Amino acid sequence: MAVREVLLYPDPVLKRVCAPAPDGAELDRVLEDLTDTMRASPGCVGIAAPQIGYELRVAVIDLTGHRKAPESVHGYVALIDPVIVATEGSEVAREGCLSIPQLTANVRRALNATVRTRDAEYAFEGFEARCALHEIDHLDGLLFLDRVDSLTRDVFPRKSGSAPTKRDEK
Ligand SMILES: [Zn+2]
Repeated sequence: MAVREVLLYPDPVLKRVCAPAPDGAELDRVLEDLTDTMRASPGCVGIAAPQIGYELRVAVIDLTGHRKAPESVHGYVALIDPVIVATEGSEVAREGCLSIPQLTANVRRALNATVRTRDAEYAFEGFEARCALHEIDHLDGLLFLDRVDSLTRDVFPRKSGSAPTKRDEK
C-alpha cells in the first residue's frame, strides 16, 4: 500500500486521455494506491488514477458519512473502465479538486448519472453523481476549469487557512 503524491495542474499527465484499466495485480495496485491516497487526503471524496500518475481508466469515490451525500449513497465505489450510459437534469454547484488546490469553481453537471463499470452498473444521484462525473472527466484529461462557463465569473480562490475538512476534494 502506498500514499502517492498528487499531481498538480498544470501537470501534462492531467490533460491526457487515459488507457483502459489493467487486470490482476496491476489493477489491485492502482486501486490500493488510489484508496490509500484518498483516505490520507482530508475531505477527499474521490480520486482518479492520473492524479497519482497512472494514465489508466480507474478512479475511486467514497461519500460515506459526507454531509452532501444523497440517501441513495453507495459508499466506496471503484470506477473501473467507467462509461456514462445516461444522465438526467443539470445543476450548478461548487467543486474542488485535489489537483487544483488553490481554486474552487461553479460547475454545471448532470443531477443524476447511470454509470457502467467493468463489474456493475450504478445509478448515482446528486452529489455522488457529481463526484463520479468529476472523476470520469479526469480519465479523459478534463478538469473543472474545462467545464466552467466563465473563467472570470465561475472560478474562485480558496480562502487561505480554510479548514481542509470542509473541502470536497476530488
Ligand atoms: Zn479532481
